[in-house]
Amino acid sequence: MRGDPSHPLLKERDKRKAYSGRFAPSPTGPLHFGSLITAVASYCDAKAHHGQWIVRIEDTDLPRIYPNSEQHILDCLDAFELESDVEIIYQKDRLDIYHDVIQQLKQKNLVYACECTRKILGSNHIYSGTCRNKALNFENQAIRVKVTDQNICFHDRLQGLHCANLHHALGDFVLKRRDGIINYQLAVVVDDYLQGITHVVRGADLLDNTERQIWLGELLGYPQLSYMHLPLAMNDQGQKLSKQNLAHALDIQYAPQLLRQAILALGQLPVDLDQPHKMLVQAVAQWDIQRIPKGTQIQGTFQ
Ligand code: GLU
Repeated sequence: MRGDPSHPLLKERDKRKAYSGRFAPSPTGPLHFGSLITAVASYCDAKAHHGQWIVRIEDTDLPRIYPNSEQHILDCLDAFELESDVEIIYQKDRLDIYHDVIQQLKQKNLVYACECTRKILGSNHIYSGTCRNKALNFENQAIRVKVTDQNICFHDRLQGLHCANLHHALGDFVLKRRDGIINYQLAVVVDDYLQGITHVVRGADLLDNTERQIWLGELLGYPQLSYMHLPLAMNDQGQKLSKQNLAHALDIQYAPQLLRQAILALGQLPVDLDQPHKMLVQAVAQWDIQRIPKGTQIQGTFQ
């Protein structure tokens, strides 16, 4: 695909901008205050750079989709007046594209089929490469991508230098599960590329995924992205706000108040309570990443 400019997949990304950011929620639960912080930061950073901001729904993991959460995400974005600059895409409609990319990797002998069940793998999180040389048929098996024993590093705009050796930390990792589900790592890399994304702004809980995504991007010949991993809002138990920890769903009745609180949690100057769009305009004008709290956690307790 890389060398073939007429390939249909490339049409989507012809309009690559100097700054193109995105917010890519998974509908595995309703949006909570932690997600609002990510949405607001990615929006303000994009707009402060005169860039575009895109919303993408990451819904490949069908068994984990939570009923009605997609609608809640869309309702929240509406209420907060966080408007995507291009039509929202849904990854579940793009499975053919991901399969195509797996095919490309297969042709280059960079992936292989793996028949190891969870039972065989046990609690060992580092895959030892059992199936690497078995040349199994790809039908109904998990697909893993090969990694090499080397340090992968990137410079995060907030977190500084971050490195990992995927071979030691993880081993060859899964791109497609045995049940056919396309893994987040693959879908996110392919869509960031096809949508012409240049800057990723997201929660620090995804920091450790980044080297896998850089590796995949390199294998596919995609350009490197800029990363900024935001500190996470914590609850009163010291846990990050998440669906698992039963973080409160955002109540759109209080959109202006919540928006103001998210802007303050990001260490930014306060904005006047107003219509969300006007508040965002002010937040963008005042946006300063130097003010974002350092580290991977925001002090204070949130719900
Ligand atoms: N879909 C992912 C999530 O909701 C975020 C993906 C990303 O920002 O890279 O956690």
